[in-house]
Amino acid sequence: MNLPFTEPFKIKMVENIYRSTREQRETWIKEASFNLFNLRSEQVFIDLLTDSGTGAMSDKQWSEIMVGDESYAGASSYYKLKEAIKEITGFSYFLPTHQGRAAENVLFSVLVKEGDVVPGNSHFDTTKGHIEFRKARAVDCTVDIAADTSTFHPFKGNVDIEKLEKVLISNPADKISCIIITITNNSAGGQPVSMENIREVRKLSLKYGVKLIIDSARFAENAYFIKLREDGYAGKEIRDIVAEMFSYADGMTMSSKKDAIVNMGGFIGLKDEELFRQASTFNIIYEGFITYGGMSGRDMNALARGLYEGTEFEYLESRINQVAYLGTKMKEYGIPVLEPFGGHAIFIDAKKFLPDISKEEFPAQTLAIEIYLEGGVRAVEIGALMADRDPVTRENRFPELEIVRLALPRRVYTNNHMDYVAASVKNVFDRRDKIKKGVKITGEAPIMRHFTVKLERI
Ligand SMILES: *Cc1c(COP(=O)(O)O)cnc(C)c1O
Repeated sequence: MNLPFTEPFKIKMVENIYRSTREQRETWIKEASFNLFNLRSEQVFIDLLTDSGTGAMSDKQWSEIMVGDESYAGASSYYKLKEAIKEITGFSYFLPTHQGRAAENVLFSVLVKEGDVVPGNSHFDTTKGHIEFRKARAVDCTVDIAADTSTFHPFKGNVDIEKLEKVLISNPADKISCIIITITNNSAGGQPVSMENIREVRKLSLKYGVKLIIDSARFAENAYFIKLREDGYAGKEIRDIVAEMFSYADGMTMSSKKDAIVNMGGFIGLKDEELFRQASTFNIIYEGFITYGGMSGRDMNALARGLYEGTEFEYLESRINQVAYLGTKMKEYGIPVLEPFGGHAIFIDAKKFLPDISKEEFPAQTLAIEIYLEGGVRAVEIGALMADRDPVTRENRFPELEIVRLALPRRVYTNNHMDYVAASVKNVFDRRDKIKKGVKITGEAPIMRHFTVKLERI
């Protein structure tokens, strides 16, 4: 008999969580204006809102916390992190930032000008926010098959090379800030991008003289999928695959809260010294001096260690398999989930789950509310609320996909928790015919509204 794979760690410290009653949750969600971001964490039993900054650090990372160097300039923690980044990603120049969006803010302050276009596969919401805030335009060049939620394709996160070339041909190079590849493609369901695709994008970036930046939050999960699914990579080490991916880029922005398994942190990696010097000025203004940039020495230490742990095959195997465990359970119950399963989350197709709710009534948000009421499980909407309004016309944007994301924190929950989550969603699924009405907006911010939006049940 083959021995089953298991988590390559055991648990040394626990945090108790408490179940609530349905009546309590009814009250709390009303008080939260039907926005799950407004709930207190104690009001949540299993929190799958995000995999961002919610992971469990290892004993080795915690021990690194104790030996952090808090010197303002030139701290040993900075050099430890610089070395780790160089070793894992290959980038010689780096700037620490307090999180991923701060890295975007600093780098885009150099690269993105008013009137620019920024093509890529589905831009993450903060990425798009930083682009649109500068009155530039993010052009989504994701492959069409990403919108097909049931057909298997190994790399649904890919950039459509023809769509990208069209953008590159129809705009002068100085109007294109950069090309951004997001790995894995978060907004398209945590789907990976193939090495071949990154290589093709690189060819176009060189041909048209446009920089290629990798939005790298889940670069290790992407490398794991390349190893599993792409010809020629089965025998390669994760770290070699990672190094090859980054070798095709001019730079990277990183949210360390994802694959580097820390609770806070980010950085920019760059090949070019001149770009590094320009970005350094903005780093100092927005984040802090270039050898700490919004991070404590101890946190840079833990991050350096996290980069190594996050790129270990056994860890990635257990993580991605836990995501698949949850997805398989829900699929067995007949719940419409996106396939293939993504790296960090399971995505439910809300249009298929709640076909009677029109897009104007936000079916994915409606479903996320029902899942919370059912079992105290917190998920997040990725649909029309998150897609926001068109910056010019101010009309609501209705994306192809209305999905609910159940994101798994790293090294935090057991498969018993996954069974509980799947059962909660199944109970909603069994009573889906009785859910006839969605929600409407009663208050919203001008940009990135989904974080603070106020809603009412119709
Ligand atoms: C999380 C994330 C970001 C932003 O990072 P923060 O650390 O949350 O600021 C950017 N891009 C992608 C793909 C992400 O997943």
